[in-house]
Amino acid sequence: MLQDQQYLRIPGPTPIPPSVERAMTKPMVGHRAKVTDDLQEKIQPRIKKVFGTEQDVLIVAGSGTSGLEAAAVNTVRRGEEAIVIISGSFGARFEKICLAHGITVHRYETEWGEALDPEHVRTMLKEHPDVKAVISTYCETSTGVVNPVAELAKVVREESDALVISDGVSIIGGVEAKMDEWGLDVLVTGSQKAMMLPPGLMFAAVSERAWKQIEANPDRGFYLDLVQYRESIRKNTTPFTPATSLLYGLDQALDLIEEEGIQEVAARHELMRDMTRAAFAAHGIPLLTSAEAGSPTVTAVRPDDFDAEEFRRILQTEFGLAVASGQGKLAGKIFRIGHMGYCSPADVLQMIAIFELGIIKAGKQIEPGKGVTAAQQIYLRKGEPNQ
Ligand SMILES: *Cc1c(COP(=O)(O)O)cnc(C)c1O
Repeated sequence: MLQDQQYLRIPGPTPIPPSVERAMTKPMVGHRAKVTDDLQEKIQPRIKKVFGTEQDVLIVAGSGTSGLEAAAVNTVRRGEEAIVIISGSFGARFEKICLAHGITVHRYETEWGEALDPEHVRTMLKEHPDVKAVISTYCETSTGVVNPVAELAKVVREESDALVISDGVSIIGGVEAKMDEWGLDVLVTGSQKAMMLPPGLMFAAVSERAWKQIEANPDRGFYLDLVQYRESIRKNTTPFTPATSLLYGLDQALDLIEEEGIQEVAARHELMRDMTRAAFAAHGIPLLTSAEAGSPTVTAVRPDDFDAEEFRRILQTEFGLAVASGQGKLAGKIFRIGHMGYCSPADVLQMIAIFELGIIKAGKQIEPGKGVTAAQQIYLRKGEPNQ
């Protein structure tokens, strides 16, 4: 095996486009220099489009989890109540964050692999009228579920004044998000999933209503106090030293998204999801999620007659192809394929061909090529010629 040929197909971090890599090698500049302010100014209108918002998109040096913490700490005070929807391990992390900050959590745990039901949240809001925020995971990376956040927001608005907070870490950049139209109040993401960047940036956008609740909160902490970031970004700067090299990369990644078109980016991700799902269906290998709940960025497979961990080991050692294991209660039972960001139908076809070899080597008798054919057929039906 070529030792430096690695195919990173875990659901984040994800591969970086060469032009983004090159942009990040620019010489360092001062964090208060005009070039840095100009860079921030150039980034804002384009990152807003990725979120589907007119609001400022705050960019913080931190991993995705810092966005979850910022969302909770800024909006909900110690002793106040929040509904946390747990559809997998990232929902569970959000609950831990809330508990760490003394927030009273009303938990709604779905079956892992299933999407949340907005009507259940309606019932919970009737039982708990003082809830200040309803927290959900847009794409639950641990199960490959995409939650119906727009429908959820609608129900929450109908039933209460609670803010709708969503963790979009593994999906923003891979869908056509419409934060304002859907009525999301806080939407956060990180750089290393569908945004085609290395780890290290957190992005957060906040609605007018949420800003009112945040401004009235006297206890927003310090580094993640979003009010500071808003004041700074209005002057095209940041309260603390930004991750300058990553901002250069972001500028280039946004160029790539713009050149392709946000709708086309979303369509590419849906196509990759459909091709991946069709390949496993062709072999009768079960997926963790229904077609309706299946994420365009990550697919979780639950094999019932070969070992997921052995399969992963074969892919890694023989082909340098990394897919992710299960997390939490799904550890050892599933494997997860990232098809997001810098990933195309060409990559998916290659992956599927390798998966078929891995499945056979892991001990399941299948007809090689059947999954590739199924994916090709999806491509022929749905794919657009790239010109
Ligand atoms: C990856 C991920 C996170 C955590 O991001 P870190 O960058 O590891 O802190 C949070 N939520 C979701 C849904 C994720 O996929």
